[in-house]
Amino acid sequence: MSINNLESCEPWNSKFPKTPKRSKLYSLEPVSISTAYTEGLISYVCRLAEAHCVSPGVLIKQEILPSFRRNYTVGNQEIYQLHNNGGITTVACLPKPANTKNSNEYGFLAFQYIKGLEPLVLREDLQSLIIPPWIGEALGTDIELARDVRAWCPKCFQDSLDIKKPIYEPLLWSITAVTVCPYHHQPLQSRCPFCKKNQRPLTGKMQVGRCSQCKAWLNKLGENSSESESSVYAELEWHLWVTKQVMGVLAVTPNLPYKETSAAIAQVLRDTKRPESEISVNPSTRRIQLKLLETIACYVQ
Ligand SMILES: [Zn+2]
Ligand SMILES: [Zn+2]
Repeated sequence: MSINNLESCEPWNSKFPKTPKRSKLYSLEPVSISTAYTEGLISYVCRLAEAHCVSPGVLIKQEILPSFRRNYTVGNQEIYQLHNNGGITTVACLPKPANTKNSNEYGFLAFQYIKGLEPLVLREDLQSLIIPPWIGEALGTDIELARDVRAWCPKCFQDSLDIKKPIYEPLLWSITAVTVCPYHHQPLQSRCPFCKKNQRPLTGKMQVGRCSQCKAWLNKLGENSSESESSVYAELEWHLWVTKQVMGVLAVTPNLPYKETSAAIAQVLRDTKRPESEISVNPSTRRIQLKLLETIACYVQ
């Protein structure tokens, strides 16, 4: 082939499809995303860490936070987001979210994990793995939206083990007002049946489905019901109703501003019939549940 012929050829790479952008970490799909039983952010971080054979603590420290700091600078009250367009860096200023104890709730930790993870896994749907931020905004700080201990349903873990489905921890279990598993109709557990300890929502060495303290599988029920579990059994119908209301809200609020889904949420809140039980065995839990549902109902009207 002469030089002239070569010059008339198309560029060598025009015949090949462009290589898709590769993610630095596995682009793990969140379990049951955009449903009422969507995986929570904490569970996602733990499963991603496990997929890379490291602990969540190592993943957060060595990958997620450095990735966050590449695009964001944190001030006292603000976060500065850096954009680089063709060598020109522009800066946007955002209000710094308040700290929350549970990273499944919108707060500074959840913000850092989501913004740090997005470029690493090339996913834009991780915001769906936390409790919709508008609920926390509407509720204020008087009522605990997300619990400060880890809670789980042992039978859900066992079902996943039996049918060899991915073991994960749904976002729903983090919501304080939710006290019962909607599928197994039994109280969520928050004390390991083996070492009898409570656990923080996320720890550096946490694994989904296992106790963070003693590493035992959490697929067994404790031998004795605690006082709070007994009170849930005593008013099971009420607790299931609250849980179903919250699930309805999560199912129609995947990743959208509240206004676009407010009519659908209002419908959910109207549709399930409230059980008639006026005297509560556990008034403090009842107060949290009522406050959450009333706040949501007011906000979407
Ligand atoms: Zn369950
Ligand atoms: Zn344990």
